[in-house]
Amino acid sequence: MHINDAVFLEDLCPKFRFRQWRKSIHRFTGKSCIYCGKPSESIDHVLPRSQGGLSTTENCVPACLSCNGDKSDENALYWYRRQKFYDPRRAMAIRAWLEGDLRLAIRLLQWANPNFKVSKKNYTKDESKYKAA
Ligand SMILES: [Zn+2]
Repeated sequence: MHINDAVFLEDLCPKFRFRQWRKSIHRFTGKSCIYCGKPSESIDHVLPRSQGGLSTTENCVPACLSCNGDKSDENALYWYRRQKFYDPRRAMAIRAWLEGDLRLAIRLLQWANPNFKVSKKNYTKDESKYKAA
């Protein structure tokens, strides 16, 4: 019964759910722009909405205002390749994110940015699990 209540609450408060969702997106990268690593102030649609891109986690990445504005309505991967801060590891991370493999995406971002601390804690444990297996 409480599960139904939760669904009902979310239906009642789509704004609340939207805010939580945005927060969780920023949390994945420790609030850093997936393209350049600066603080993420916005959510960017990898495939722009004008091209049929959906507002799903797979299609939405944390981005700074500068990247988000500069990219505008372009496809993110094409746009990103032309940037002077282009990093193939980040490009791979964006691709992994698009495929819904956030875990791999975050790992690649950590590789690209050793100062990436927030999520590292959460994922170090998993690494040892993999080594043991
Ligand atoms: Zn940026």
